[in-house]
Amino acid sequence: MSHSHENPYEFSLALPDWAIEENQRLPSSLPTPEARMAEVIRFSRLNFERGTGGPFAAGVFEKATGKPVVIGVNRVMAYQISSAHAEVMTLSIAQQIVGTYDLGGPGLPEFEFVVNWRPCAMCFGATLWSGIRSLVIAGSGPELEQITGFDEGPVTPTWEIELARRGIALQNNVLKEEAMAVYLAFANSGRFVYNARQG
Ligand SMILES: [Zn+2]
Repeated sequence: MSHSHENPYEFSLALPDWAIEENQRLPSSLPTPEARMAEVIRFSRLNFERGTGGPFAAGVFEKATGKPVVIGVNRVMAYQISSAHAEVMTLSIAQQIVGTYDLGGPGLPEFEFVVNWRPCAMCFGATLWSGIRSLVIAGSGPELEQITGFDEGPVTPTWEIELARRGIALQNNVLKEEAMAVYLAFANSGRFVYNARQG
């Protein structure tokens, strides 16, 4: 299931075929953060059920209109690339679609980043670097690590302050129970948890 390239000095990452098709079938508008999160959670479940990655998904939407830019999923196992988290996949594809590394840049609509839990240490940094101005998460507590065993890394305890300092609006605990239900289903499925350091 790993992808190999002729040129070892080059890599590329793509969403699985089912997720591309699901993106093409999304409604033209998901008007509320709850509606956007519900879709992100649906993708997170499909990703592990179909064996294409971990139970993580993220979406970029136009905040005012609810127009989806892209919903992406975790691809670590498929590519054997540890940074292929849902947030990195989604922000990168959104930036490719919008045509800029800065999703908060001039002349653009305001974008909202919707993730099915608080981003890990790496993805918290990726969120700040993306220029996005709005973050919606399903939860931020230890439940994710407790249920799944994934090590989310040393996110600073002042993460909420750091978001605010950079003008990033935060909405937390959106469909928390629904997100946790997917983590429970993942944990009960017995699938592999790919931390760099086990135990
Ligand atoms: Zn991450």
